[in-house]
Amino acid sequence: MNDFSFHTPQDAAAAVAAVKKATEGKYLGGGQSLLPVMKLGLAAPTDLVSVGRLAALRGIKVEGKDLVIGAGTTHAEVAESAEVRKALPGLADLAAHIGDAQVRNRGTLGGSLAHDDPSADYPAAALALGATIVTDRRSIPADQFFQGLYQTALAADELITAVRFPIPEKAAYAKFAHPASKFALVGVMVVKGAGGVRVAVTGTGNGVFRDAGLEKALSGKFAASALDGVAVKADGFASDGFASAEYRAHLVGVMARRAVAACGG
Ligand SMILES: Cc1cc2nc3c(=O)[nH]c(=O)nc-3n(C[C@H](O)[C@H](O)[C@H](O)COP(=O)(O)OP(=O)(O)OC[C@H]3O[C@@H](n4cnc5c(N)ncnc54)[C@H](O)[C@@H]3O)c2cc1C
Repeated sequence: MNDFSFHTPQDAAAAVAAVKKATEGKYLGGGQSLLPVMKLGLAAPTDLVSVGRLAALRGIKVEGKDLVIGAGTTHAEVAESAEVRKALPGLADLAAHIGDAQVRNRGTLGGSLAHDDPSADYPAAALALGATIVTDRRSIPADQFFQGLYQTALAADELITAVRFPIPEKAAYAKFAHPASKFALVGVMVVKGAGGVRVAVTGTGNGVFRDAGLEKALSGKFAASALDGVAVKADGFASDGFASAEYRAHLVGVMARRAVAACGG
């Protein structure tokens, strides 16, 4: 790992200023993705700017029809929050099944969305729920935020401050987890809300996406039986040492049924 300068700014504006000033600055949330990437030599920032503990980026509250979660809120805090369990129990369950206890105690919501790992869980929730990613300078709809493998709409110095999740009528996430890392071999978030039925899929290899076929079938009847005979194509899905593209496609259907069943459908 290369040498780097470490910054502990006192507020979001100072954090953004520190990244802007650096030759190659990076925000540090929980470090659960960035530090492994640095250890592998795949990133060599000159400056790490710690944001996970900034008070302005922490916290969970219900505002009108939205659940608003600070970007620096850890996965464990989301999993254990009474507000999340009441407003969006499917999101609390998702957070409770990320990685292991250490990962959940350090990793943050903002870090997960910014990193946009193709097997991560939160991107599926943000996309299916039609969340808005709030940054230091604008609000980005989830439909525009995720742009493929590890690619988001964020500028290099843009800081996620919070995420607004519209509170749905029903929502649940089901994942077929890798037995060691717990990352999704396939994860499916199913939501029925003001925006209709939205289904987002993670883990198939090219980044999170909405599945129009599953959404259409569930819009007619929000029940697992509505997915009988609905085939998921493996086109573009990854085949690797963990699963073939065809097996992943099969799992999308199975996880979608489980998620709908968890919604009571
Ligand atoms: C063993 C292991 C198992 C895991 N299992 C899972 C799993 O099952 N499911 C899952 O979804 N994830 C899993 N993860 C990843 C984990 O959830 C990470 O916490 C998450 O991907 C990144 O969050 P972080 O806060 O640690 O971000 P960091 O590692 O600190 O940062 C990641 C990236 O986000 C940027 N960043 C951080 N915060 C912000 C911000 N507020 N605004 C803008 N950019 C920011 C950083 O600059 C960096 O580019 C696992 C990780 C490990 C090590």
